[in-house]
Amino acid sequence: MLTRMATCRCGQLSAFCEGEPVRISVCHCLECQKRSGSVFATQARWPDEHVVISGDYTQWERIADSGHLATYKFCPICGSTLAYVNEGWPGVTAVAVGAFADPNFPKPRFSVYEHRKHDWVEVQGNQVEHSSDPGIAYTQGRLPGVVDD
Ligand SMILES: [Zn+2]
Ligand SMILES: [Zn+2]
Repeated sequence: MLTRMATCRCGQLSAFCEGEPVRISVCHCLECQKRSGSVFATQARWPDEHVVISGDYTQWERIADSGHLATYKFCPICGSTLAYVNEGWPGVTAVAVGAFADPNFPKPRFSVYEHRKHDWVEVQGNQVEHSSDPGIAYTQGRLPGVVDD
């Protein structure tokens, strides 16, 4: 089965992700902007059992807009946030797509929190579902309880 590897910038923290992700999305929310340091963030999600994280990480938690606890895992050396989980979608791990350093990574299907989108940003593709309603972020996609923030 296809396995992809995401790493932090210094390389000591890795996530091995088996099979195709269940969801790939772009989030324009302000928290994702701060997390990534960019003006939007792209993440891919796999069932927890398809993600093996190796290396040292520090966790930081916050309550997302949805009211759910989100837990971020980042490298204590270089600071890259590699992965996060949200209790609003239990059993699924989100991995930062940029951490795969793969320009051929599959395209996102969802673009959420577009009311926070910088107006020069456009997520292209006929397949992309666009949403400006944080509530929709819960029901979009393959599984109920999806939370992008
Ligand atoms: Zn690192
Ligand atoms: Zn977000």
